[in-house]
Amino acid sequence: MFDNLSDRLGNVFDKLKGRGALSESDVREAMREVRIALLEADVALPVVRRFIDAVTEKAIGSEVLKSVTPGQQVVKIVDDELVDMLGGTEVEGLNLNAKPPVVIMMVGLQGSGKTTTTAKLGKLLREKHGKKAMMASLDVNRPAAQEQLKVLGEQVDVATLPIVPGQQPVDIARRAMESAKLQAADVLLLDTAGRLHVDEALMAEMKAINAVSAPTEVLLVVDSLTGQDAVNVAQSFTGEVPLTGVVLTRMDGDARGGAALSMRYVTGKPIKFAGTGEKLDAIEAFDPKRVAGRILGMGDVVSLVEKAATAIKEEEAEALAKKMAKGEFDLDDLRMQLKQMQNMGGLGALAGMMPGMKKAKQAMQASGMDDKVLVHMDAIISSMTPKERKHPKLLNAKRKKRVAAGSGTQVQEVNKVLKMHQEMAKAMKQIKKMGGLKGLGALFG
Ligand code: GDP
Repeated sequence: MFDNLSDRLGNVFDKLKGRGALSESDVREAMREVRIALLEADVALPVVRRFIDAVTEKAIGSEVLKSVTPGQQVVKIVDDELVDMLGGTEVEGLNLNAKPPVVIMMVGLQGSGKTTTTAKLGKLLREKHGKKAMMASLDVNRPAAQEQLKVLGEQVDVATLPIVPGQQPVDIARRAMESAKLQAADVLLLDTAGRLHVDEALMAEMKAINAVSAPTEVLLVVDSLTGQDAVNVAQSFTGEVPLTGVVLTRMDGDARGGAALSMRYVTGKPIKFAGTGEKLDAIEAFDPKRVAGRILGMGDVVSLVEKAATAIKEEEAEALAKKMAKGEFDLDDLRMQLKQMQNMGGLGALAGMMPGMKKAKQAMQASGMDDKVLVHMDAIISSMTPKERKHPKLLNAKRKKRVAAGSGTQVQEVNKVLKMHQEMAKAMKQIKKMGGLKGLGALFG
């Protein structure tokens, strides 16, 4: 999902990498490309404008953290804004706070996935919420629509309203409400009729059903693959029926993501669910943060910036970066880096997060390191004299024994630390040869 937009944005941010400071022209140039990327992803124009304005304002005004690159900083700002545009950090579930049977009315165009989604929600309500659900199809337009829901109901083990041939939608809705009450159902799902296009007859029908069933939720089902059309459909429904949320189907096949990005802005309503396949359990609560992460494809960079902002002392980082630039790396440096790693959530959190850390991580793995060891290593290095830390070659067998005893460890572990230091020092030299700080420097300034 979202591969194209993610790639495009990736290219934009690559260009920003390695620049000293984020100037206004840098930001404006990057935003021009973000704009094209968003338009190509079929995001509605007003949404693109609002997005670009918000990001530009924040990026130009913001102070770039010394320990990340300007590009990484912009990625974070763009990510924040994407999350905002997709609905914020809250994951919105179904509102079931009403006198049972709580009515959920499903609306949308024909083929959007309405009936399938109704059955998916019925299953979800039964399995995840422990609710007794009932479903009724009010679709008298499409031949066999009512049959379809009945069959799906059997598959997900949720009762459906018996079909009475010839009955009209509003009457079916009334009968469904009575039946749900009689059977003490907690939730009643009303699957309404779709049309190929939005028209007056459809809207009149939706209003009439809404009036008799007083739904707690009115969910608009739209096909994310239709991009801009989905947004137009949403716009047509908004204002006609009181929508409470949106379900985006076929997110499993959506490579562009434009519909998801525009939907909240256009409807002013939360995207509550994402349909992710044809199977009846292929539905997920829509999580803006996760989707933004997927759109950017740069979740690692985002969390890196978040952590760097709190964990790294900038002066220390700068000093270390300078030494590394010269290819120098002693045991004091190693100790400092271990501390930073602990602050940032240990080895697991670092895996793959920093572009230049791959080598260092490989070196750690080669010397058999894991998180628990970080603490031991710190103790070991602390037990050395300053001179030993500057010149590890001084550590002969006798000294190693002393260090092991002092740190409550074994000589074997002392050797591991020394081996790791050697590997890393070697990596630093290579990085220097490869043109300095572009690798590790991505993190350290
Ligand atoms: P309706 O006319 O709006 O009721 O649409 P249906 O529920 O009959 O769905 C139309 C087709 O889309 C069916 O073949 C569904 O299996 C398929 N479909 C629905 N939701 C999804 C989804 O999230 N992903 C995929 N891949 N297919 C879906």
